[in-house]
Amino acid sequence: MNSKDVNNLIEKLTAAEHAYYVLNKPIMSDGEYDKLFNELKKIELENPDLVFAYSPTQRVTGTPDNVFEQITHKQRMYSLDNSESIQDITKWIEKIEKLTDNKIFPLTVEPKIDGLAISLIYKDGLLVKGLTRGDGFVGEDVTHNIKTIMNIPLKLKQNIEGEVEVRGEIFMPTESFEQLNNQKINDQKMLSQLSQLDKKEMTAEQVKELRELRNEGTSEFINARNAAAGSLRQKDSNITAKRDLRLLAYQLIEHDRQAIDSYSDQIALLKDLGFSTNEVTVTKDIKNVESELNRIEENRNNYNYQIDGAVLKVNSSITQDELGFTSKAPRWAIAFKFSAEEQTTQLLDIKLQVGRTGAITPVAVLKPVNVGGALVSFATLHNPDEIKRKDLRINDYVIVRRAGDVIPEVVSSIPERRESSSKIWSLQKKCLCEEYSIEFVNDEKVPRCAGKEKCKIASKEALIFFGSKSGLDIDGLGRETVETLLNEKIKETNLNKSENQKIENISDKNINKLIKELEKEMKNAAKILEFEKAALLRDQITELRKNLIDKRN
Ligand SMILES: [Zn+2]
Repeated sequence: MNSKDVNNLIEKLTAAEHAYYVLNKPIMSDGEYDKLFNELKKIELENPDLVFAYSPTQRVTGTPDNVFEQITHKQRMYSLDNSESIQDITKWIEKIEKLTDNKIFPLTVEPKIDGLAISLIYKDGLLVKGLTRGDGFVGEDVTHNIKTIMNIPLKLKQNIEGEVEVRGEIFMPTESFEQLNNQKINDQKMLSQLSQLDKKEMTAEQVKELRELRNEGTSEFINARNAAAGSLRQKDSNITAKRDLRLLAYQLIEHDRQAIDSYSDQIALLKDLGFSTNEVTVTKDIKNVESELNRIEENRNNYNYQIDGAVLKVNSSITQDELGFTSKAPRWAIAFKFSAEEQTTQLLDIKLQVGRTGAITPVAVLKPVNVGGALVSFATLHNPDEIKRKDLRINDYVIVRRAGDVIPEVVSSIPERRESSSKIWSLQKKCLCEEYSIEFVNDEKVPRCAGKEKCKIASKEALIFFGSKSGLDIDGLGRETVETLLNEKIKETNLNKSENQKIENISDKNINKLIKELEKEMKNAAKILEFEKAALLRDQITELRKNLIDKRN
């Protein structure tokens, strides 16, 4: 076995990693990769002089001595100035146009990843250091964790002599973040089970698992950015290696050489060197910029990473150099912030909602707050278990998230801001129908009304579903009609004004039509629903018909 054979193996494995993690086009099965990887590991074990720094086996190194050492950046890592509207951007362009005789356009536009800025140093083509941004002047050495990130090349695909710096953003893909949090929920259960065992009776495996769970921690992360930050700050690179972190590179600095002509050329070169890069669009005028910003915002939930805006940069390196920096930020770039999808507000109350099957879900009543452009007053809490797990108390300050068309949800409470007026919530004994108790069936997390379909709220919801588009789509049998006609107040003689108004609003023509529809659909309903459900629904519909006919006469 010689160095040439080993390098041959390394090359094959590296090409497979690049194809899988950067190009998204696998060229090798997992089995084949593992086989070659183990082969290489065996050779390295027997021949310590053939272990090269860029070998894929060297990605996980445990905890080095210089972990988190403070290191000064060769060139300061600036943050960007912010803008919130196209007017802000127009003003920014006007301002920088006055500072240079060069043209400002083309400007590049790219999604702004909500991740962590990182600086990677390569010497003669080999990765030697990974530094966090820190305060922009001094960062922390996280090389041991950076190496575990599979789409970061340990060796550049083209050799560049001397030192180059690659900057980019580290993130955790949204899907992996969700998986990690699910894992944390399972870990919490496992930890509490293991903690209850008598130490003397535990197997060696259980002791090991308990220690690992305590070491890694079982708290959930608030968002993908926190998960990425937490993973990068691990002392032990074995833990980071288990987390799915990725890099999108956006800057290449060759400290001793002239800058590359343009930003888009930098991106192209980064790709050639083996990096994943962000999608960068070159725009020719402000109209172009605006439509690109709109496109990114409309698609903000379709990226596999969280974005919180877009970044605009002057493409020409000469113009960039001429514009230079303020004391805080480059003049040639600006961030465009989308409205936040997470906000802080107060949890005023927790109410229950009964569904058509009798399932009972808690709903958060919030102090209304604008989240991502929509006013949010309610948010789902899924089940009582989740309220306990997240330790949500009435009057707590909470973080609310709303992503796209998804139902808003309460992410977490903020215990640091908890006031003495906060109250622990507990599930009431009786269902909202006031007839039956609330029960848990089997191991289900969602409680139910013990009356099942007999629960009058559940059956009302079933009737509404029956008339809805997802049900039999009966014209005129919407929520409001059902609620108005089933309402017991209808039987009373002195209705209040608004109740009367609602009934007036159901015109005769509509009622005739609805009765016909109901008669037709009753047969269908019996066919579609199970017998017992159909019988109950039939009673409901009969009552509804009676009400309708009474009203007509
Ligand atoms: Zn009930």
